[in-house]
Order: sequence, then C-alpha cells, then structure tokens
Amino acid sequence: MQISRLLRRLRSDFQLSIITLMGLFGVIGISPYAVYRLATGNYLVGSSDTVIVVSTVMAVIYAWRTGDTIKPGIYLATIFSAGATLIAINLGVNGLFWIYPLIMFNFFMVSPAKALLATTLVLTTLVGYGQLKPGSVFESDYQMVSFLVTSMMASILSFVFAYRTSTQRDQLQQLAIHDPLTGARNRRAMNEELKIAASIYRRHGNSYGVLVMDLDHFKRINDNHGHHAGDQVLVDFVELIKSSSRKEDRLFRFGGEEFLLLLPNTERAGLLAAAQHLQQQVAQHLRGPSGAVTMSVGGAILRRDEHWESLLQRADERLYRAKNAGRNCIVIDDGVDKTSSLPIA
Ligand code: GH3
Ligand code: MG
Ligand code: MG
Repeated sequence: MQISRLLRRLRSDFQLSIITLMGLFGVIGISPYAVYRLATGNYLVGSSDTVIVVSTVMAVIYAWRTGDTIKPGIYLATIFSAGATLIAINLGVNGLFWIYPLIMFNFFMVSPAKALLATTLVLTTLVGYGQLKPGSVFESDYQMVSFLVTSMMASILSFVFAYRTSTQRDQLQQLAIHDPLTGARNRRAMNEELKIAASIYRRHGNSYGVLVMDLDHFKRINDNHGHHAGDQVLVDFVELIKSSSRKEDRLFRFGGEEFLLLLPNTERAGLLAAAQHLQQQVAQHLRGPSGAVTMSVGGAILRRDEHWESLLQRADERLYRAKNAGRNCIVIDDGVDKTSSLPIA
C-alpha cells in the first residue's frame, strides 16, 4: 500500500524520480570512491565525494518531504558541478570522464539556460586552470582541445534536447487544461482548481464563490444562423467575461455554453455584485447575429468542510432556478435577485 503510493508519486513526478535516481547513484556509485580516496590519503577528492553524497541524500529527503524539486535541483547542480570540477582538477584525465555525465545531469536537474550556464562555468574553469598550470588537468593541448570540442558538443546537444522538451511540455500542459475554441480553462482544470480551493479554504479559511453562467436560448443561434455563428458568440463571451472580471478570478468552460467563474476571497455580497456586473456587461455588449444575447447565473459560496462537487451542485441548482425564473436572471445562495429590468438592447 505504502510502496504503491511511493511508486505512483515517482511515476507522476519526473523531477522527483530523477532526484531520487541521483540519490541512488550518489550513495551506490560515489560512496565507494569517497571511502577509497579518504583511505588512500587524497583528502580533497575524498571530501568532495563525501559532500556530494551527503548533499544528494539531503536534497532527496527535502524533495520528498516538501514536494519542491526546483530548489534541490539547483542545489544539486551547483554541488555536483563544483565537486566534479575539483575532482577533475585534482585527478586530471581520470577525473575528466565525470564531466560528461555531469553535463547530462545538469540538463535533467535545472532549466536549460541554468544548465548551460553551469556547464559553461565548469568548462571555463577547467580550461582556465589547465592553461595556468600546464600538465595538471590535460596532458597536452591536443587533449584539451579534444575535450573542449567533445564536451561542448555534448552540452549543445543536451541544451537543444532539453529546450525542445521543455517547450513541448509547456505546450502539452496548455492543451491539456484549455478549451481550444475559446481559450478558457476546461473542465479538467476546473475540477482540479475547485479541489484546491476547497482544501485552501479548509486550511486557511479563504472564502471562495462560484458563478455558473449559461447563455440563454443559445440553441436558437445555432439553429437560425449555423454553428459558426454560435462559436463566435462563445468566443466573444469569454473575452467579455475575462475583461470584466478580476485578475484573480478563473474562468472555465465546463459544458457547451456553460461556464464557471471561480472568485477567490469573495463573500455573498461580493459574489452578487460580480454577478450583476457581468450580467449587465453581457446584456449590453454581447451580440449574436440577431441581436443581444443574455445569460442566466447561479452562484454559491463555498461552505466550511464542503466537498467541491457539492458546491458545484448548489450553484447549478441556482442556475436552474434562474432559468425557471424567466432567464437573464441571477440566483445566489438563497435569494432570488431578479435583474430582468436591466437594459438589454
Ligand atoms: P437555455 O436558455 O435553457 O439555456 O437554452 P439553450 O438553448 O441555451 O440550451 P440548450 O441546452 O437547449 O442548448 C445548448 C446548445 O449549445 C445546444 C448545442 O448545440 C450548443 N452547443 C454546445 N457546444 C457548442 C459549441 O461548441 N459551439 C456551438 N456553436 N454550439 C454549441
Ligand atoms: Mg443555455
Ligand atoms: Mg446549457
């Protein structure tokens, strides 16, 4: 049970799995070197190895405990880069072999730009030291040039690969949580964020409100003017709501013409004011091919210890009541606030 949970975490968090793998490498792969160097009196390399092993273990523990993999990543890339440089300076050619896995390690651990910076610093230090003390790091100039060319090739190829992977990951993430038509966040993102809101409320007491908005008689637009006209109304609607709500409010499209706005730090009065403002904006500015388009709104405030699905259900039930009350209406919590007197045309 416990083990399957650990494995699931490793599978879902790539950075954590790499840091853990490095922890294993550190303990199994580098510890014997640390013992051997210390036993044979090479204290500089021996203590570098020891620092690398100990800090790796500490970083792994930190990453597992906090879930933060960025700080331990930067810390490990720094320690490994400094350690490998010291070892290469001390051991010469035998130490240089470690630079190649170090380059890959850095690109796995930190952002491509940071990894390139770390690798450039390592190579510059080694070549600089080699020039200052000929024969210390490299046995000949020819060897130094060969090392520089091969390590730079490894760095550039790693950079290109890491950069491409990170942009693709960003694009995938973007696609996974957004609706392609309107650019609003999708239902998957909504479920996640409602879950997070419920747990933040439980832990810190921050209040949240939600507004479920549904366009009135939307089907008529499709039936009378075609799907494209309907699509355009949806795009305009999202643009209007985004520009009329606060920066911290999150808009989700969770059904065909049904949207949810999540409003952090909002009580009932604030939620009602926001709903009225948005409804007025829609009635005044949203236009379909045959004129004004209106919406009905259901709203609810998250209750203590309430499950996010129950919050959604309550808001949905208010929306249903707003529809029944004649559309172009707002129903929040227990009050009906009829606003059909708002100017529509
Ligand atoms: P009500 O006032 O009761 O909400 O009536 P309505 O016509 O808006 O609601 P209904 O649920 O009957 O119809 C919703 C319509 O939304 C039906 C469906 O064809 C349309 N729809 C759903 N998704 C899309 C979409 O992505 N693009 C377009 N153009 N139409 C969509
Ligand atoms: Mg509708
Ligand atoms: Mg609907």
